[in-house]
Amino acid sequence: MDISDKDIKFALPAPVEAAIDVLEGAGYEAYAVGGCVRDLCRGTVPHDYDITTSAEPEMIEKCFSGYRIIETGIKHGTVTVIVCGEPLEITTYRTDGEYLDGRHPENVTFSRKIEDDLSRRDFTVNAMAYSPRRGFRDLFGGRRHLRERVIACVGEPDRRFGEDGLRIMRALRFASTLGFDIEPATAESIHKNRALLGKISAERIFAEYKRLLTGQGSERILSAFGDVMVEIMPELASLGEEGYKTAVRCAGAARADVVLRTAILLGAPERVSALVRLKPDGKTLSSVKRVVGFLTGEFSGDRVSLRRMLRRCPYEDAHRAVEGRRALGLMSEAEAEGISSALREMEAANECVTVRQLAVSGGELMAAGVPEGERLGEILEALLEAVITERVPNERPALLGFAAKMTE
Ligand code: ATP
Ligand code: MG
Repeated sequence: MDISDKDIKFALPAPVEAAIDVLEGAGYEAYAVGGCVRDLCRGTVPHDYDITTSAEPEMIEKCFSGYRIIETGIKHGTVTVIVCGEPLEITTYRTDGEYLDGRHPENVTFSRKIEDDLSRRDFTVNAMAYSPRRGFRDLFGGRRHLRERVIACVGEPDRRFGEDGLRIMRALRFASTLGFDIEPATAESIHKNRALLGKISAERIFAEYKRLLTGQGSERILSAFGDVMVEIMPELASLGEEGYKTAVRCAGAARADVVLRTAILLGAPERVSALVRLKPDGKTLSSVKRVVGFLTGEFSGDRVSLRRMLRRCPYEDAHRAVEGRRALGLMSEAEAEGISSALREMEAANECVTVRQLAVSGGELMAAGVPEGERLGEILEALLEAVITERVPNERPALLGFAAKMTE
């Protein structure tokens, strides 16, 4: 049995209620909208709240004249107001103009009707509004789709993806993070329109990709939309159909970590260029490069080999390499657990695995007569190798003695 809209009551945080009251008190309509309403309906805690209102930006500013205001989004009808220390995005009802480039509307028109604002939103579950005074607005069956656990476009899928190709990645991302299916007509349109992603900036695709890959439904969605994945990462095609299936299954079996799952999906260094084209942040890229490098070929888990690995690889990536090899079936559970606990012990003991951890510094070696320059670097590396292989203890006199012998 459905509860009628006016009987639905959600507790909104005090600043959100206060902001809605301010706008309503000035004679405008105001609702919480989008992701926060979706999350409230699902019984999860929204991480932020957006407010939509019939008031135009200037009026919003007037209503909140006693508050701190950040004007950044004003052109698009968004005013950020700090209410009780919380930044709240308040956006005027709007309709998007024509999308000529498949990315941005040509213009944005303010509207007086909440219906217009909900119609421009991407998916039915994201197109609901709620206000304690006005109740619930769900024009496109968002609650039914939440119950049925499906992502469906608001309106005609081909047209909506044509307006903004990023919505293709967003559909996959929401389906993955929420553990939902994609409604058949929407899914069909995604397959058909996948090339539209070519118009979307790499950074925006990567932001959605990260959430897609770490969502609870990532394995299912990556399997069903391999064609979209090849669209954004053409190098995945070289895996072949079977190879892709296996990679997706192994990535899904691994911890929900972007670096680890990406490394497993790519599988080999020659496919890292697929990630490069998504312009990820430098830390993610260098970690994926390192981890991928350990997913093929031999791998020894003895202490000396692990120390050699840690010379160039931070502990977190070493752990990922072990998890990756385990997920790919290249290591038994017991073996992986043994190596992971060895890594944890080594880190806790602050074992010397980098030049910086040597008990002598370059300065001290110079004071002891080693000339500055290339030779100094070579000696430090040789000392590290000797410590790693346990030929010399990591103690200053022993290291100075070893260095002296090298410079004789
Ligand atoms: P979360 O913040 O939890 O990732 P969200 O639903 O709040 O989810 P946002 O990207 O913050 O997602 O977008 C806020 C709302 O704006 C969405 O719920 C949706 O209504 C609308 N929206 C965002 N991006 C688009 C888009 N590309 N096309 C149409 N509507 C969009
Ligand atoms: Mg949001």
